[in-house]
Amino acid sequence: MKTVDQCDFKDKKALIRVDFNVPLDKDFNITDDKRMRAALPTITKILNDGGSVILMSHLGRPKGGPEDKYSLKHILGDLSRMLDLEVKFADDCIGADAAEKAKDLEPGQVLLLENLRFYKEEEKGDKEFAGKLAKLGDVYVNDAFGTAHRAHASTSIIAEFFPTEKYFGYLMAEELKNAEKINNNADKPFTAIMGGAKVSDKILLIESLLDKVDNLIIGGGMAYTFAKAQGGEIGTSLLEADRMELCLELLEKAKAKGVNILLPVDTVIADKFDNEAQKKNVDSGQIPADWMGLDIGPKSVDLFTDVIKNSKTLLWNGPMGVFEMANFEQGTRAIAEAVVAATKENDAFSLIGGGDSAAAIAKFGLEDEVSYVSTGGGALLEYMEGKELPGVKAIND
Ligand code: AMP
Repeated sequence: MKTVDQCDFKDKKALIRVDFNVPLDKDFNITDDKRMRAALPTITKILNDGGSVILMSHLGRPKGGPEDKYSLKHILGDLSRMLDLEVKFADDCIGADAAEKAKDLEPGQVLLLENLRFYKEEEKGDKEFAGKLAKLGDVYVNDAFGTAHRAHASTSIIAEFFPTEKYFGYLMAEELKNAEKINNNADKPFTAIMGGAKVSDKILLIESLLDKVDNLIIGGGMAYTFAKAQGGEIGTSLLEADRMELCLELLEKAKAKGVNILLPVDTVIADKFDNEAQKKNVDSGQIPADWMGLDIGPKSVDLFTDVIKNSKTLLWNGPMGVFEMANFEQGTRAIAEAVVAATKENDAFSLIGGGDSAAAIAKFGLEDEVSYVSTGGGALLEYMEGKELPGVKAIND
């Protein structure tokens, strides 16, 4: 793998695609800076070599033109503090000002470019736009795992302008190494824990996992579509009616492949979607009309915990319930604790992927107790589905 370790950046201007798409509150304070912190080792290595750094990223989903709320200027102060230097800013990612600021950059200095997605050409993968960005630096580095599944101008097309001078940053290398451990070299028993709202988002992943895992645990909102497909009553719980047939097919496929699928056996139900709702425990498939399942129940926790604690490889994507509400977080918390226990006591390799599982594990303060928490949501899922990520291919080609 071609990483920044293979380059001496002395007197070079490194153009780094980072993923600084961090959540901001209404006063533009960063509420989770993990993605920024994760990019620091690559930046520091280049500065220590005697190079300079030009950072490019997207933030949020602007509609193709400048929007103040999506300006990267909001993160400039935090970035400067993290790097302990004054980061310069170009309020347009291309054009005369960006070109001038990039040209004037001295070794040891850092320039942050304005949001790439203020140009619709970014997401379109426009070659001319990529070429304009490419002119700003001597070397291209991709350290944005979170967007590696997109063939955008700055994540993929731009690499064509750097036939030899292109490298993976440390975060990308680390993400790929950890994902690869799960994809091809997983120690057995291998258990995947799938949760979250929708079956439809995870079908391809579940299908590809059936060839790899020994156990597949399914919880969260998507478990109710399985319960209904099996003839259960699910009240007003989340349902994707058009996926019921598919759920049954997945169960059949799992059986044929010898994969042990575990679905919740009980569930915590509520009379409304509210932390203060009335709640009670019932067996799966026995939810009264007008009630909804918002978490897995204690019997499911015991069942799942047992399998998790005996696993040697764990992949967790998606919460077991509405963990954002304190009264419905117990299932997700218990599963997080079981993953931690397997990591510590059974020497298991545990990979937590996807935005919501990462947010859950962070909420419980257990981020450092598992083997690796990925910064990628969609990118990790697509990698696990066996797809070649455009951002990775662009460097490897
Ligand atoms: P996803 O983005 O598909 O991983 O889904 C994560 C979201 O699913 C979180 O915001 C959870 O609150 C939500 N979720 C999990 N379980 C349930 C459930 N039983 N009912 C409604 N939403 C759920």
